[in-house]
Amino acid sequence: MNLKDCYYVFWSYFSENAENCYALLLSKNAYDCYVVDNSDHVYGSLHCNRLYKVRNGFFSDDCMDSSFIFDCVGCSDCFGCINLRKQKYRLWNEQLSKEEYYERLKYWDLGSYARFEEAKHKFRALYLSTPHRFAHVVSSQDVTGDIVRDAKDCKVCFSAFDDVEHCRYLYFGGLNMKDSWDVSIGGDTSNLMYETCAVTGHASRCAFSAGGTNCRNTYYSDWAANSSYVFGCISIKNKQYCILNKQYTKQEYEELLPKIKKQMEDVPYIDKKGRVYKFGEFFPPELSAYAYNEAFAFPWYPKTKEEVTREGWRWQDTPERSYEISLKPEDLPDHIRDVNDSITREVIGCTHTVPPAGGCNEQCTTAFRISQAELEFYHKMNIALPRLCPNCRNAERLTWRNGFNLWHRKCMCSKTDHAHDNNPCTIEFETTFSPEKPEILYCADCYRAEFL
Ligand SMILES: [Zn+2]
Ligand SMILES: [Zn+2]
Ligand SMILES: [Zn+2]
Repeated sequence: MNLKDCYYVFWSYFSENAENCYALLLSKNAYDCYVVDNSDHVYGSLHCNRLYKVRNGFFSDDCMDSSFIFDCVGCSDCFGCINLRKQKYRLWNEQLSKEEYYERLKYWDLGSYARFEEAKHKFRALYLSTPHRFAHVVSSQDVTGDIVRDAKDCKVCFSAFDDVEHCRYLYFGGLNMKDSWDVSIGGDTSNLMYETCAVTGHASRCAFSAGGTNCRNTYYSDWAANSSYVFGCISIKNKQYCILNKQYTKQEYEELLPKIKKQMEDVPYIDKKGRVYKFGEFFPPELSAYAYNEAFAFPWYPKTKEEVTREGWRWQDTPERSYEISLKPEDLPDHIRDVNDSITREVIGCTHTVPPAGGCNEQCTTAFRISQAELEFYHKMNIALPRLCPNCRNAERLTWRNGFNLWHRKCMCSKTDHAHDNNPCTIEFETTFSPEKPEILYCADCYRAEFL
């Protein structure tokens, strides 16, 4: 909504000059970003807010002129840094003088693909050897989940921001959202939502519905706007008391609704696997407009074609790609300074299609192009050309965040000086980091004691 000069951009609002992004909000000049708000000149970043001139920022807010930062706030001129607050001239977390910082930064020239890869690997190693917060939860009370800000009494909520209360199983909700369960994308002054997806903006008492705004008492509807008391309606606007898009009087509606509910109880929908859908269940996945492997669930709950078909869900076979690759990724110039406008006419192969990388199950498109605006951005920001197609790049970026399961785990801090009366910490928490993950996790107290 309200986008300008955006290409291959999804679920985004009020943004401009962006490519290959998901969930941009009020941002511009953004490339290859995932959930980035209020930012300008930002590249390859994920879950960040208020960045300016940042390359590869992760879970960081209010930072500028920095690259490869993770969980940093209020920093500028930092490179390869983790867990910093209001710092300047830090390189791989080490404090330097301004002169020394710029001198040593010359080596980390991200215009070079080889150097970019070196920085990426060094950053990953630093990330794995540095403790992290068990969850990104700030200014909140009584919350489990991850990436939560300004919320109260919310359980198993992910990406919930700015005045969210008494919610459960929420993904992507905020701006005054109350008393709602099982919601994906919702908020902007909404309450009493149940099993809805993308129903937003002054919505109340909506259930089993997808899409829509300013609705009340809607059930099993798709893209209803400014409507109330509607059941099984599609794309209706400014209506009341409608069933299957047909207008009824208030009295008729109130008589019919209990009958429909009873019939849904008595003659439920049974899917191919024998699962029963009565009143109270969202539409079955087999009726989805999207195949499983093109849906949002796929990267987080990957399944094989066989598993998906066995569930009775649709699978989208990868279309036969027969692009004539005019430039192999290994033949691209190493440095962006050696790239001229002719690159925009090339069909570049994705590294994941070149052996030995092989098929990657990331919806690889096998080839990609560079647009003129994108090329200008890379020149201006001094960023090497990518070697992966946009889908493979997005899959790589998503490895920086976890999925939607919570594990009960313990603080891994072994220090005895973190205000535990000289005993190691025993605090437990719910975290999205599974026990197999290699990250070192700290409770909020130990993180604060060591880093803030
Ligand atoms: Zn690819
Ligand atoms: Zn891939
Ligand atoms: Zn602890």
